[in-house]
Amino acid sequence: RNAAAYWRGSEKNPMLQRIYGTAWPSKEELKAHLDFLAEAEKRDHRKLGNELDLFSIPDEIGSGLAVFHPRGGIIRRVMEDYSRRRHEEEGYEFVYTPHATKGKLFEVSGHLDWYADGMYPPMQLDEGVDYYLKPMNCPMHNLIFDARGRSYRELPLRLFEFGTVYRYEKSGVVHGLTRARGFTQDDAHIYCTREQMADELDKTLTFVLNLLRDYGLTDFYLELSTKDPEKFVGSDEAWEEATETLRQVAEKQGLPLVPDPGGAAFYGPKISVQAKDAIGRTWQMSTVQLDFNLPERFDLEYTGPDGTKQRPVMIHRALFGSIERFFAVLLEHYAGAFPAWLAPVQAVGIPIGDAHVEYLQKFAAEAKRKGLRVDVDASSDRMQKKIRNAQKAKVPFMVIAGDEDMAAGAVSFRYRDGSQENGIPVEEAIAKIAKVVEDRVKI
Ligand SMILES: [Zn+2]
Repeated sequence: RNAAAYWRGSEKNPMLQRIYGTAWPSKEELKAHLDFLAEAEKRDHRKLGNELDLFSIPDEIGSGLAVFHPRGGIIRRVMEDYSRRRHEEEGYEFVYTPHATKGKLFEVSGHLDWYADGMYPPMQLDEGVDYYLKPMNCPMHNLIFDARGRSYRELPLRLFEFGTVYRYEKSGVVHGLTRARGFTQDDAHIYCTREQMADELDKTLTFVLNLLRDYGLTDFYLELSTKDPEKFVGSDEAWEEATETLRQVAEKQGLPLVPDPGGAAFYGPKISVQAKDAIGRTWQMSTVQLDFNLPERFDLEYTGPDGTKQRPVMIHRALFGSIERFFAVLLEHYAGAFPAWLAPVQAVGIPIGDAHVEYLQKFAAEAKRKGLRVDVDASSDRMQKKIRNAQKAKVPFMVIAGDEDMAAGAVSFRYRDGSQENGIPVEEAIAKIAKVVEDRVKI
């Protein structure tokens, strides 16, 4: 394989050809590798996104800026709704913040010192004041924390936002939804006392892993990024305590724990969750990051039980990372065949003849009243063609009806793998789809 590349990644430099090759000890291993590549290509989210009409990245809008089509929009909304519900149950409070801000905020946070390259250039508004698109939500959440006095009784305070951020990535590294220039993080910041830190981290990590499992990822390992001795803020003692706490919390999960010495950001140690997908690729998913720096910079305080002012500990935590990226990971993991709870169309009615259209439309109306997403293919295509179309769209349930089904007040199911189940009474059929949706299982 070959690809064009600029010398040192700059388009001002001459263009080179990069040549990729691999070598294998045996024919079998080479074949396994080629099969893996073919499988990965089949699952490429950009290809599936187009085939299944889920999203696109129009050139008119620009590189790394995606639009979601109605079918992709359903998947995304269901992902978000479920996440929102689970976060509410877990004691998170929802906030909203704008996409742009005066530069001063990112001076206070330090982003303009160490992250300016990753930010879009400023717009000048209000007679020369620089406004930036936000690359991160944290500084704005800090302002919400700081909007009034806080008492220890309010902690841990967990602020959650589906926060859209913009990062300036070089066009050469932008890749579909997995590396974009605009995306929405499922971002939370937790403010707690030093004494609450261990419990809160433990709770957070358990919550994160369970939620990922609900979306169908089950194979994880954890990575613990620790202090870079050359670059850090805060005392050695605070780092030691935080790192030790993270380690204990991580070990408690009983998952493999891989050290990443020196890999922490200068402001605190972090755990990241690495998930394996259906074909064995590893994706970095969630991160749980301690931060000693921002509470200082923003002078965040709460009033302790003895009336004195105390500095809270801050935890940054993104679970999907970005919704767009997680969407892409799930799309590739499932090869487009989403479990019914996420599928844009959960069941499609396929009449054997014209006489059965109305019967299936009644079935669909009944199922919709139960909150299911059901379509009927009333086109003039022949039945076999309709089945092929539903298979191509990767719809979990094909609901087929002919004379016999109608006479019995029943329908037949055909599944994505081609297997079939006949003569299921209508009510039972709807209950069965509803159960599969509710249980979030893959059929
Ligand atoms: Zn943050």
